[in-house]
Amino acid sequence: MTADRVPVRDDLADVAPYGAPQLDVAVRLNTNETPEPPPLGYLAEVGRRIQGLELNRYPDRPATALREALAGRLGTTVDRMWAANGSNEILQQLLQAYGGPGRRALTVRPGYSMYPELCRTSLTPIAEVDLDAGFLLTPERAAEAVAEHDPDVILVPSPNNPAGTPVGHDALRVLHDSSRALLVVDEAYIEFAGPHHSAVGLLEELPRLVLVRTLSKAFRLAGLRLGYLVGPTWVVDDLQKVRLPYHLDAMKQVAGVVAVEQEEAFLEHRRRIAEERDRVATALRALREGDGGAGPVGGADGDLEVYPSVANFLLVRSSVPDLFGRLLEHGVLVRDFSTKPGLEGCVRVTIGTAEENDAFLAALERVLAAEQ
Ligand SMILES: *Cc1c(COP(=O)(O)O)cnc(C)c1O
Repeated sequence: MTADRVPVRDDLADVAPYGAPQLDVAVRLNTNETPEPPPLGYLAEVGRRIQGLELNRYPDRPATALREALAGRLGTTVDRMWAANGSNEILQQLLQAYGGPGRRALTVRPGYSMYPELCRTSLTPIAEVDLDAGFLLTPERAAEAVAEHDPDVILVPSPNNPAGTPVGHDALRVLHDSSRALLVVDEAYIEFAGPHHSAVGLLEELPRLVLVRTLSKAFRLAGLRLGYLVGPTWVVDDLQKVRLPYHLDAMKQVAGVVAVEQEEAFLEHRRRIAEERDRVATALRALREGDGGAGPVGGADGDLEVYPSVANFLLVRSSVPDLFGRLLEHGVLVRDFSTKPGLEGCVRVTIGTAEENDAFLAALERVLAAEQ
């Protein structure tokens, strides 16, 4: 008797494929992209340059021109620079190289929801340390968690996703110096937060520190799938042992080089996003306080909380049941975190165009009004 299918790995049997819903709604504020397209002329320039590619040949395996361009941008050298198909692939490669059975990863809670997924597929046990009530990591807690779990890899998003808070350099130093781990600081949103929040200045001081970044967020190229790492040369050497040969295709390497050349034009929107973020946060706080004597909005508790964010999204907490679904009824897609421990009642809203943000605020106002 032969079976007509092969059972998937036991630990994957009950797993749902990861990913935010891709729904066809008017206002999509759920995956933290930049609402504006790449600068005018970018695709034309990429198109011009890919004409010269020999696509019958495999691409440059170490992606040297792209890594050199990225290294130049960060003022470092190509041997400290790595690139892959999105920072998610870099995180996966890091866990393949430094995690695995018999090793341990440590991350923060709340944190980026891909870390547990990547740990599962790489068979890396994962432990979590809770952020404090303001979604910050205290050096004390960092030290306790390292002492308790003795991790091999530490994954820290800074700014935090979904909270939007940066991690202090003091906490990063403690994570590094009290452990023997590779300290991975995931700076997916750092271009929004500003250079003073970046751990880039700690690279010289902390020999087991790597920074992981992406072109998916502030660089407006989520569709390109390109991320990069800067860190010690031995990490770059080790990652070559787990990467697939020719993992970065020739067209992407060109598209990445052109993006780095046009960096200024690509990042020029950040001020608008920051202004919109602060405008939306202020409007949300005004909603909480009630509009002009109409009484508190959102029930007797006046319960709408918006957390301070240095990124291009806001975490919002309310006691409205199924806020995610109620906003969706009004054509606004946000990210639902309400079932995550510590994030009860929370949704995360990406800062979009002014019109999209207004649509979100109007939808929220209607939902809250219907609750009264
Ligand atoms: C969006 C995001 C990424 C980006 O992943 P890519 O694979 O580069 O698109 C990485 N880390 C965090 C914390 C993110 O929010």
